Amino acid sequence: MVTQAVANIKDKIIAILSTVTDPEIPVLSVMDLGVIRDVQVGINNDAVSIHITITPTYTGCPALDVMKMSIRMALLQEGYNNIVLTETLSPAWTTDWISEAGKEKLKAYGIAPPNIKQLVCTPDAFQAEEAVQCPHCNSYHTRLISQFGSTACKALYQCEDCKEPFDYFKCH
Ligand SMILES: [Zn+2]
Repeated sequence: MVTQAVANIKDKIIAILSTVTDPEIPVLSVMDLGVIRDVQVGINNDAVSIHITITPTYTGCPALDVMKMSIRMALLQEGYNNIVLTETLSPAWTTDWISEAGKEKLKAYGIAPPNIKQLVCTPDAFQAEEAVQCPHCNSYHTRLISQFGSTACKALYQCEDCKEPFDYFKCH
């Protein structure tokens, strides 16, 4: 009985977390972003406690505090007030943790999703730059303009074909 109740509450919590978005990239939920490492639900008599473990996208990312606040607010709104949020830095978050759905959403939003390394044509003798795909016209004919885009988590690129500048979510 208790196990079932815990599983039901955990499903609800995950559904709520799927509505909490990243303050920097409002189209991605914290679930899409892959920063939620663990959700533990405890039931003691009728009191429900929730323990969420979160890994920041990078150390010192100012978005983390906003994200934690949003998670608390969303859970409070649904009546969960006994919430513990713990951060863990290990293993470190990587862009690989962004869900497939999340990568599609990033692209639709005009941010190049972290790309699949195999797409890069690398002559062995050269240390080739990453091939970054333009989210507007899908061209790989792009160049890095600045290591820092609109936020420190992103780099600024420009497409040589459609000339549109865009943010690229940096691999860590
Ligand atoms: Zn383009």
